[in-house]
Amino acid sequence: MTLLTFRFAPSPNGELHLGHAYSALLNQGLARASGGRLLLRIEDIDTTRCTPQLEAGVFADLKWLGLGWEEPVRRQSEHFAEYEAVLDGLIREELVYPAFMSRGDIRAFITDSEKRGRDWPRDPDGVPLYPPADKALPVKERKRRIAENTPFAWRLDVDAAVALVGGDLAWTEFADETLSATRPVEARPQDWGDVIVARRDIPTSYHLAVVTDDALQGVSHVVRGQDLFSATGVQRLLQELLELPQPAYFHHQLILGPDGRKLSKSLGDTGLAALREAGASPDDIRLMIGL
Ligand code: GLU
Repeated sequence: MTLLTFRFAPSPNGELHLGHAYSALLNQGLARASGGRLLLRIEDIDTTRCTPQLEAGVFADLKWLGLGWEEPVRRQSEHFAEYEAVLDGLIREELVYPAFMSRGDIRAFITDSEKRGRDWPRDPDGVPLYPPADKALPVKERKRRIAENTPFAWRLDVDAAVALVGGDLAWTEFADETLSATRPVEARPQDWGDVIVARRDIPTSYHLAVVTDDALQGVSHVVRGQDLFSATGVQRLLQELLELPQPAYFHHQLILGPDGRKLSKSLGDTGLAALREAGASPDDIRLMIGL
């Protein structure tokens, strides 16, 4: 029997908080209970916001919590060439296109469209979908802009991609943290519009790096926060396009702050380092998050 493989994949762009502790310890508990593997992956493709200091903090916090993981740890910033090769395939298949509109351009387009009485669609995070103009740009014009160094990002042509994989996309979601029962969830990648899959200076994006790595590392069970639930639709689509195996998913409850809101990386008082300095023990943390 192949071992179940779990992973905890933090981004060192801030300090870890109680929500991360819950996710990490839940993955550890599930790996242990099934005799499976636990991998740690550092998701640091955003090389401006992720720093060596923050990464050192992540390792220190996780060690203190008692998390154990397999070595070597995969650090995404060391694998850009691999993501670039995946991106090149999508470019060759014309499933991605260079998108030139800046945030300001997008805002202006949407204000204009809404002034004319048309509500512009938004993604599940409330961000307006990318306008369609660049998808229709003639190849010559794309080349001209790229040659002129106009900034751009590679965006997925989601309609073309969904048409190619044949429409019916779903994933397997566990009902709870006992991972006993599952249910199929319909994947709705179109809800996100033409997502960014790579940038000009960073040949990947969160989605592209995650699906590449989950497959490459043989991750069978993706256990992560509820906030990534609908992002899974985009990741399932990429898995189909890239012919990658599909893991099973469990999106766990989020640990909320005293104000009932999602924890953010800037909330000092729920940060693991701050709690440790205030005298909390790893057992106290487990109690605080109900594990
Ligand atoms: N790196 C992501 C984060 O810290 C998590 C990615 C994932 O679990 O798929 O939010």
